[in-house]
Amino acid sequence: MDRQTLFTKIAAREIPADIVYEDDRFLAFRDIAPQAPTHVLVIPKKPIESLETLDDADAKLVGELFVVVRDLARQLGLGNGYRVVVNCGEEGGQTVDHLHFHLLGGKPLKWPPG
Ligand code: 5GP
Repeated sequence: MDRQTLFTKIAAREIPADIVYEDDRFLAFRDIAPQAPTHVLVIPKKPIESLETLDDADAKLVGELFVVVRDLARQLGLGNGYRVVVNCGEEGGQTVDHLHFHLLGGKPLKWPPG
């Protein structure tokens, strides 16, 4: 059986979230602590632990995840630009062990991040 994570529980509706997109393989929902006017987490439903442990066989899935992010950015009106972030591991700031892309936008974003 697949590993359970906070995000698989959100996908299973065991934990409430503001879901903005769903299909059979991907889910997107608003971050509970938004760091920008638009801050959405986009995940594969498959509970891949992190970018570091990504299997080569999941490369296509991750490519498709980027397409979902692109389409969502358009739907959410981020035509002036946006940022996609993947935190990886402890020093990368990853706090949930389920691969997720942060989609951030809706204001001019500063660079570099801390
Ligand atoms: P990470 O720090 O692992 O890159 O990102 C995890 C993100 O999940 C954080 O931005 C955090 O605010 C968000 N988060 C944590 N718990 C919940 C929750 O229960 N619901 C939602 N919607 N987001 C959460």
